[in-house]
Amino acid sequence: MKTAFAAIALAVAPVLTGCETISQINLISVSQDPVLGAEAYPQLLAEEQTIDSGARYRTVVDMTERLVTAARQVDPEVADLFEWEVTLVRRDDVINAWCLPGGKMAVYTGILPVADDGSGDFETGLAVVMGHEIAHATLRHGTRAMTRQLGFSAIIALIGAAVGDEDDAVLAGMAAQLATSFASLSFGRDAELEADRRGLIYMATAGYDPRAAVAFWRRMEAATGGSSQPEWLSTHPSNDNRIAQIQSLLPEVLPIYEQTLGSR
Ligand SMILES: [Zn+2]
Repeated sequence: MKTAFAAIALAVAPVLTGCETISQINLISVSQDPVLGAEAYPQLLAEEQTIDSGARYRTVVDMTERLVTAARQVDPEVADLFEWEVTLVRRDDVINAWCLPGGKMAVYTGILPVADDGSGDFETGLAVVMGHEIAHATLRHGTRAMTRQLGFSAIIALIGAAVGDEDDAVLAGMAAQLATSFASLSFGRDAELEADRRGLIYMATAGYDPRAAVAFWRRMEAATGGSSQPEWLSTHPSNDNRIAQIQSLLPEVLPIYEQTLGSR
């Protein structure tokens, strides 16, 4: 732990003097993302009933594995550092899915009917969502939002303490912070559109038709009545903006999809 935190402290100075805008600063190092995520994961799932077998579970696991393989191909310098894992949560009333910093994911059963394209197959629709959520993780939007939410002084204090003797306590504190605040973290509209774009690239690389994203977001709007129930919808761009951007990106990502199909 100590070496990792010392590395963060060293990374602070160049970040602060760089030309990134404040909202893009991330004081947590990429190697800490999976450590924090792995600590926060069981806390977020502690109250949940999980599904560990059956056809739906297999599809969720196989689909996320394909997307993770794609993310490793596209962004190996980040994705290879992460500890990818998915949990299927039995909550038919929750239309949600997420990916923590570092690659730990959850899919709630309530989103599966929305992901279903009407043929009884939810795999490609769910790949739209999880491509997007995985992109949030590889683009490191979660720890960037944590940096923003906690404030620089709090993070620097944590790092300062970490260089001392209380590394594990500091790590546990940051993970607890992540677990309690993750559902309400706002990544920001630009980050959402950025995750949409990267998610489409992951989908296409994994061999899922990115054109499915347009229909999926329309179903999502119908299912939620355009209301902003889960965090990841409330902070997301309007569906009109999102669909317009997806359509403008299709000429870029369709060749990737076709190449994947051709290579099989
Ligand atoms: Zn998002």
